[in-house]
Amino acid sequence: MALKEPVFPPRLLDCYRKLEKIELPAAVVALDGAAVASWDGKSPLLESAPPLIDPDRFIAVAQQVFDLLAAHLPEMEKDLQCLGKKLPAGTAARAGLVHALISRDARAVTFMQDYGEIAPDVFGFAFSHVLRIFLGAYARRLQAEVDFARWGRGSCPVCGSKPIFSRLDRTGRRFLYCGLCGTEWRFVRAACPFCGNTAPEKLGFYLFEKGVYRVYVCNGCRGYLKTLDERAADHAVPNLFWEDIKTVPLDMTVLRLGFVNKSFAI
Ligand SMILES: [Zn+2]
Ligand SMILES: [Zn+2]
Repeated sequence: MALKEPVFPPRLLDCYRKLEKIELPAAVVALDGAAVASWDGKSPLLESAPPLIDPDRFIAVAQQVFDLLAAHLPEMEKDLQCLGKKLPAGTAARAGLVHALISRDARAVTFMQDYGEIAPDVFGFAFSHVLRIFLGAYARRLQAEVDFARWGRGSCPVCGSKPIFSRLDRTGRRFLYCGLCGTEWRFVRAACPFCGNTAPEKLGFYLFEKGVYRVYVCNGCRGYLKTLDERAADHAVPNLFWEDIKTVPLDMTVLRLGFVNKSFAI
């Protein structure tokens, strides 16, 4: 059975809090030191220096994540339990699944058992939560090794995803935030991170909550990006993952205006 409608993120708040507590021992996600050191800054690190992930541990965490999601989404419980039973058992198939998921290879599902019975959207939804955990650990390890200052693009320097949120710091500099791996990176203010448009007449923003939040919009590609302005906010430096969830009503507002959510697209 496929998902009938998208899962509204605030419904999963409690689930996300539990997912956040899943800790990965350092050895589970290792860096290829030589590949990281020779990063040329031209493509995301995930392509040139992918993480070395223990496939058995990955499967164990996947099962844990599916169980948590099933406990919070009764309408998906059966699908998620079924997916858990189809996780590959052999080490080679497990390694193949991990590699394909990390590479965003559409053939990832073929490493599952009886994969013909799996609905692609259930597969994608469930594994996106597992990937967030592993890519988040990978990104945190990279932050100590790599300087992203020279990157300057509209997509994530670690995993290549488009940003899901951004912030203006206290000096007005703009940082984009990746919802998949949690990386933040510097980006110019007067440009669209989705299509690269820099024409001022096609760029704009809407202010919300007395300017604490703004939503940048682009009339070139109809993309939008929610942003927290730290200069106007009275709360401490935020965790942008939670800010994104907290501000879902802003998505609803700009979607109604005809803008399109382009986050996660590569
Ligand atoms: Zn990323
Ligand atoms: Zn654009």
